[in-house]
Amino acid sequence: MSERIFLSPPHMSGNEMKYVQEAFDTNWIAPLGTNVDKFEEELCEYVGVEHGLALSSGTAGIHLALKYFGVGPGDYVFCSDLTFAGSCNPILYQYANPVFIDSEPETWNMSPIALEKAFEWAKKENKMPKAVIIVDLYGQSADYDLLLPICEQYGVPVIEDAAEALGATYKGKKCGSFGHVSIFSFNGNKIITTSGGGMVVSKDEDAIKKMRFWATQSREPAKHYEHKEVGYNYRMSNICAGIGRAQLQALDGFIDNRKNIYDQYKEKLNDFPIEFMPISENGSPNYWLTVIILDEENLVISADIITELELENIESRPLWKPMHLQPIFSDAPIFYHMETECIGTNLFERGICLPSGSSLSINEQSLIIKTISKVLEKEEQ
Ligand SMILES: *Cc1c(COP(=O)(O)O)cnc(C)c1O
Repeated sequence: MSERIFLSPPHMSGNEMKYVQEAFDTNWIAPLGTNVDKFEEELCEYVGVEHGLALSSGTAGIHLALKYFGVGPGDYVFCSDLTFAGSCNPILYQYANPVFIDSEPETWNMSPIALEKAFEWAKKENKMPKAVIIVDLYGQSADYDLLLPICEQYGVPVIEDAAEALGATYKGKKCGSFGHVSIFSFNGNKIITTSGGGMVVSKDEDAIKKMRFWATQSREPAKHYEHKEVGYNYRMSNICAGIGRAQLQALDGFIDNRKNIYDQYKEKLNDFPIEFMPISENGSPNYWLTVIILDEENLVISADIITELELENIESRPLWKPMHLQPIFSDAPIFYHMETECIGTNLFERGICLPSGSSLSINEQSLIIKTISKVLEKEEQ
């Protein structure tokens, strides 16, 4: 059997070892070091934000951001519903209550209409959130010109979860520059990877300083080890940061590759009754994953496509299962974009994420397209 085709595998550019070697040569393996400092600087410059803090994961970044905004036991936090659990698990780390906000049809990101409904509810019930976590889904920016004024009106800070959206833009600005605090992930499946890692970025120097302190076990300035606050071991190692520096230099090329892959899928699957994730005119995504959506009547086919691809040793997956449908979050309120129907649930039931890695070859993509076409053609007969 041919080698497995993954959804979004790591893609090394070739320069990673240079920075890793430097760390070895200076025996600066850990804890921090030049690569970490430089990676923070270089990523901030790329995104257009002032301050950054490299971490062991994106989830750690969301946790620190929640803590910075004072989220504690019994508090409420609003969060996009159609996302990966890493967006909202940290709400539970702080013993707070998540409230989920449905998607809008234009980008599948947080619906301003649903957000407004949630704030009205919170005001009436005296459950005003301490923060709103807005996700840039599958590499496309949320509609911040609509979302931010609503949060501002209620005086609630925004955490931008740009884990999937490094390099994407919205009205000329890069994703990660819209939250009071924003986070990125460099997990193995993201557009660039450090094998595992994340970063929080912000214009607010004090916020980054405070989070840096907590992320390093809250060590007070003293010769001995002195601790007045609970701390975490959340920093990125100098080795991982070395990988990240080379990956960042390759990022724009990776985005081009992923866009080509998206364009190919779109062109070659054009004749079938399927839709693609809509691309908003407000910006350019990083095309992290290509997502297709089948007709309501064709729900069986979705499973068939995943099965047929699997027989060819090709990985594909349904969309993120909405958070309010997850057993762990079943008690959390959900606010819909429409009256009674949930956009995110509907997308989850109809959608498939296709292999979109920047190293996907033309032959590999042809095999994927051929396999999908076979299933869809059979259906048409
Ligand atoms: C990957 C991801 C995270 C978590 O990042 P990790 O680095 O894996 O902790 C959070 N939110 C979203 C939307 C993600 O895709």
